[in-house]
Amino acid sequence: MIPAAFDYVRPATVDEAVAALAAGGEDAKVLGGGQSLLPVLRLRLGAPSVVVDTTRIDEMKGIDDAGDAIVIGAGVTHHAVMHDALVREHLALLAKATATVADPQIRHRGTLGGALAHADPAGDQPAVARALDASFTIAGPGGRRTVGAADFFVDYFTTAVAPDEVLVSVSFPKYTGWGAHYEKFNRTAQAWAIVGVAATVRMDGGAIAEARVGLTNMGPGPVRASAVEAAVAGASSIEAIAAAAEHAAEGTSPNSDIHAQAAYREHLARVLTRRAIASAAGIS
Ligand SMILES: Cc1cc2nc3c(=O)[nH]c(=O)nc-3n(C[C@H](O)[C@H](O)[C@H](O)COP(=O)(O)OP(=O)(O)OC[C@H]3O[C@@H](n4cnc5c(N)ncnc54)[C@H](O)[C@@H]3O)c2cc1C
Repeated sequence: MIPAAFDYVRPATVDEAVAALAAGGEDAKVLGGGQSLLPVLRLRLGAPSVVVDTTRIDEMKGIDDAGDAIVIGAGVTHHAVMHDALVREHLALLAKATATVADPQIRHRGTLGGALAHADPAGDQPAVARALDASFTIAGPGGRRTVGAADFFVDYFTTAVAPDEVLVSVSFPKYTGWGAHYEKFNRTAQAWAIVGVAATVRMDGGAIAEARVGLTNMGPGPVRASAVEAAVAGASSIEAIAAAAEHAAEGTSPNSDIHAQAAYREHLARVLTRRAIASAAGIS
């Protein structure tokens, strides 16, 4: 279908984008890579008055080493994220999860910021941001603010980014040397996750010293599997990892839909958590 008519602006700076959103009012919409917004417009599920294209804003396109964190511009494409040397060295979990997003064409256009702002419960990167305790820089009419991952994801397709704000960048603490694995369960290659598990571990003498685990599609937003993280500390065998993974569905609220019943998703969360942690730890 052809989208409803809208005005289009392409600002060069974040300030100009914020001003364009303010001028456009409630119905203005930010455009990142367009891989989720364009289908929404074409299906006429949305009809913004003005689309504010952020793809020419240089500030949103960098990946920078900020000492103890890697700061990724919201406009960096999935392709650039998964191939970036800093990301691969310090944020292996993000690189691995991003490599499972959709297909190469979509990864060349879709952006990290767009995926996080879109907050699809089946999206792969929100669970990574939650597991790694990312923080989000958001610009709006009142200036800039920073929001932690625990507060960023509010509900289905809803984040802390207000309609008159722009997500500028995402800062991830470094996890240098940590093992990482993203275990995604989907029916066909390149499909969205029915459930996904993002796990990264710091090893010490053959045992898991620390773990971070995030769950995809186990609730309205990404879930941090804190009970698993606590239970798996000290594990050095697959049996110990399996026992810790039994806690994976605790505190989750998965949907039942055409792809899976909630109980099946809970089962998947336990199985995939065991696999993800074992793989991240190199324990079989
Ligand atoms: C066929 C298909 C398969 C896919 N499969 C997967 C998959 O397996 N896993 C997965 O995780 N994703 C998947 N995706 C989604 C893909 O990752 C998109 O790239 C992503 O969801 C949106 O990123 P985008 O940059 O294209 O954002 P856009 O489509 O441009 O925007 C999405 C939403 O975010 C808002 N937005 C964008 N950027 C900003 C910003 N900087 N500040 C504030 N708001 C912003 C927009 O207003 C819009 O509401 C798939 C998409 C398609 C079309």
